[in-house]
Amino acid sequence: MKDIVREKPIKFNIPRRIKGLSDLAYNLWWVWHPEAQRLFKDIDDLLWEDSYHNPIVFLRDVDRARLNAATNDRYFLDQYDRVMREFDRYMKEKDTWFSKTYPDLTDELMAYFSFEFGLHESLMVYAGGLGILSGDHLKEASDLGIPLVAVGFVYTYGYFSQRISEDGWQHADNVPIDFNALPLIRIMDEDGEPVKISIDLPGRKAYARIYELNIGRVKLYLLHTNIPENDPKDRQLTDRLYISDLELRISQEILLGMGGVRALRALGYEPTAWHMNEGHSAFLTLERALEYVKNGKSFDQASKIIKHSNIFTTHTPVPAGNDEFPLWLIDKYFVQVWSDLGLTRDEFISIAKIKQSWGGDAFSMPILALKLSEFRNGVSELHGKVAQEMWRFLWPEKDVDEVPIGYITNGIHTETWLARQMGILFSRYLGSDWSVHLDDPDLWAQIENIPDEELWKVRRHLKRKLVAYIISRGREQWKTTRVHPVQTIASGVLLDPYALTIGFARRFATYKRANLIFRDYDRLLNIVTNARMPVQFIFAGKAHPADEPGKQMIQEVYRAVKDARFGGRLAFLEDYDMNIARYMVQGVDVWLNTPRRPREASGTSGMKAALNGVLNFSVLDGWWREGYNGHNGWAIGDDITRDDDLEKQDEMDALSLYDTLENEIVPMYYEQRSADNLPGEWIAHMKENIRTLAGQFSMRRMVKEYVNQYYHPALLKGIEERNGKEK
Ligand SMILES: *Cc1c(COP(=O)(O)O)cnc(C)c1O
Repeated sequence: MKDIVREKPIKFNIPRRIKGLSDLAYNLWWVWHPEAQRLFKDIDDLLWEDSYHNPIVFLRDVDRARLNAATNDRYFLDQYDRVMREFDRYMKEKDTWFSKTYPDLTDELMAYFSFEFGLHESLMVYAGGLGILSGDHLKEASDLGIPLVAVGFVYTYGYFSQRISEDGWQHADNVPIDFNALPLIRIMDEDGEPVKISIDLPGRKAYARIYELNIGRVKLYLLHTNIPENDPKDRQLTDRLYISDLELRISQEILLGMGGVRALRALGYEPTAWHMNEGHSAFLTLERALEYVKNGKSFDQASKIIKHSNIFTTHTPVPAGNDEFPLWLIDKYFVQVWSDLGLTRDEFISIAKIKQSWGGDAFSMPILALKLSEFRNGVSELHGKVAQEMWRFLWPEKDVDEVPIGYITNGIHTETWLARQMGILFSRYLGSDWSVHLDDPDLWAQIENIPDEELWKVRRHLKRKLVAYIISRGREQWKTTRVHPVQTIASGVLLDPYALTIGFARRFATYKRANLIFRDYDRLLNIVTNARMPVQFIFAGKAHPADEPGKQMIQEVYRAVKDARFGGRLAFLEDYDMNIARYMVQGVDVWLNTPRRPREASGTSGMKAALNGVLNFSVLDGWWREGYNGHNGWAIGDDITRDDDLEKQDEMDALSLYDTLENEIVPMYYEQRSADNLPGEWIAHMKENIRTLAGQFSMRRMVKEYVNQYYHPALLKGIEERNGKEK
């Protein structure tokens, strides 16, 4: 490790007795330790809400008198000492799953690259599912003691903030990220200058600074280009997520892939193997190859060497969703790279050439990653198969089921998504060390130990909490006086904390069919407004700002939500983020997902819901196709892909949806009640759902699979490669 200096931007003024709060604030460990969050909440619960659960802002703004009061509160100090001991123990733990399973590999290092990381709502460097998956991956890598370092971006503007106008149109506000309000540690050199890396762009260099973020034991390095050294246009490289402008986009991806490798080198890291989460970082393969070519290898030799220690995960089940660049852009940005690699233009382009539907060629990021990685996977069984078909042309000599793309089904980081009250139940009835065994099926078999009435009580509590939160948001919105009254109704202030509640929250991409439920509008009206058995729906989600059909779909949903005939039983929550996601996946009764199969590569929000006892009601696509067993939730449609006739698929799925809702879900919730008013059958489903899904779709199971199937062999290859280099 070179001499680098880590500089925290803020020195807090905190009483000595509790000064450890500052260490907590600079490590996201607190995000998945509710007892650590409680400390901030106990000091000042209103400020904790106002700071949007951000400990840095909290400690900056908190009243000194409240901190002093805390130091005189014996109960608080006990909690504080317990949390700090636990944090300390966690950070120093040597006896981890990884060190026990792979004792010879503890000195090795994995590198993990992603465009976005969803770690917490106060850190808007994520857009959706891909980011949440990366964030959860890092938390679990920390828990399992995997030697891993990650690379991404911190943006000038967070992923946009969503406002819906009265006519249902989405407006996107760009909110600048306040770097001083985040636990970003500046990386400086010995002379107190920021450490910088550079990349080569046409006729110039662009520079990036490096920020460090601590996620338990894992470090994430975030690149940022809005610095005075750069050309004005290069300062925009890290302006925002998923820029549509192709020149900015290719520069961004050069920065992530090539710049990311350079950043790790500048910090003194020598990763043994490399994991690309989606194709955005695939240029890292070229930077790694360049390192070998500079040491005298040919590109052919170099690519064979690096391939063995590269892992590529694809998330995109449709060709159009893949990241590609027109060849004129490749000419403009890579002429130096291909000559440095000792290649001709044609040789270079042929590495990742893809035919376009209009006949021309483009340069495909997933193909680059697929060709230069030995380990390749999709994110569910069905998606693995779809990926094999989609990329079969790269292995023309193979049968489709021999195409070397495997799958590892996604998971979620249990403690990030679990309601605190559910965690208390698990501790009481599954054992206080339940989280140590959370991917063990035997653990979840004990779910039967939880008395029905206790589980039901927690579920009711969580729904009341969700509705109370929605009402308080509605009230705040009303106070701004910028909304029409009907928008306040649409925000959910008329929701009933005891009615059967169905949640639908995700990105508004058209294939997710948020409007499927409205296909037979009158039938839905009847279901929702049944006076004895009312049903309510809560929607949330953003459309990509350039996705007009996605925005139209929001508008269609919003029109229905405003329709007085539904009696305020439909709601749309603006500005979906991890905070709203947590409230929703913990608080509703049923989690609805209606993607057009097979386009939901995996989906993860349903896993978060399942963990909390919320029943899934979804198309048999992605993870749910593997999770559904007939007794742990409900299926929409059957286990057949009909993407050749979309109209027919929509019609069949809608009919299946209404039938199941009317004949099974609603009666099971309302009618099958015991003498003490408990819905016995529903609770049995809830328990079956937790028993079969909580462990199986945990990030723990997922990361262990990545390590056992890919990281382990890739690290062994990487070690061989290094030894070869030393010879
Ligand atoms: C979990 C999550 C997602 C991903 O959900 P899908 O089921 O994959 O659509 C997106 N956004 C947020 C804020 C999430 O928490």
